[in-house]
Amino acid sequence: VPELPEVETIVRGLSPGLTGTRIGSVAVIRPDLVAGDAVAFTDALSGRPVGAVTRRAKNIVIAVDGDVLVVNLGMTGRLMLSDADAPLPSHLGVRFDLEDGRRLLYQDVRRFGRLEVMDRVAWQVRADAMGVEPLSDAFDGSLLHRLTRGSRSPIKPWLMDQRRVVGVGNIYASEALHRAGINPRRAAGSLSRQRADRLVRAVREVLSEAIEFRGTTLLDYRDASGGRGGFAERLRVYDREGEPCRRCTHPLRRIVQGGRSTFYCTRCQR
Ligand SMILES: [Zn+2]
Repeated sequence: VPELPEVETIVRGLSPGLTGTRIGSVAVIRPDLVAGDAVAFTDALSGRPVGAVTRRAKNIVIAVDGDVLVVNLGMTGRLMLSDADAPLPSHLGVRFDLEDGRRLLYQDVRRFGRLEVMDRVAWQVRADAMGVEPLSDAFDGSLLHRLTRGSRSPIKPWLMDQRRVVGVGNIYASEALHRAGINPRRAAGSLSRQRADRLVRAVREVLSEAIEFRGTTLLDYRDASGGRGGFAERLRVYDREGEPCRRCTHPLRRIVQGGRSTFYCTRCQR
């Protein structure tokens, strides 16, 4: 499942090649991937100029005239630019033929992704209701400390709740808690201000490093040109049950929280 670093990597990969182009025609091959009516979707985008490509939470946001095309990759979605003569991939959901001959392709094996066209104002309203961006200045120890007050939820599922902080999924939540030395089972409301500071720093650090390494490819994720992410080898706890902690050599433990695997060190995470 792509998390914030993977989506950010795709946005950075698409932006230089896509901004300033114009969409020629649109072919919706899998209408279930498109929000609303597929014909209206096609009409709204055909022949229109493409502006900035940005990210909000785990959404790729492509400005198209006065509207935005919002792409959520779901579990296995891929959005990539390809040349006109490149063979089309399997499981193609939507094909955008650009006027310069290239193509923007949306491929999705499991089809949990979603593409939606909406006007900018409606999008802004929706975006404003989302949780805080963990790489923005707004996300600091003071905010995290305030938001967690009174919460009895364990900190790891708390961190993954998109209504509070966006884009931090299972992999990076485990990684950040290990870096911060915080037990994933600790009640969110019990975080001291000092631990909140440490956790914010760890979240920002792990996300930034993952972006630098173009994301984590475990199975499906590919960047905008079809490449794999390089962060998997740098994971310190995720999917390393029984292996030695990189800080203290104690064997790492796996537990299940909210139906998801959590990996942590019982010795150096308190
Ligand atoms: Zn340890």
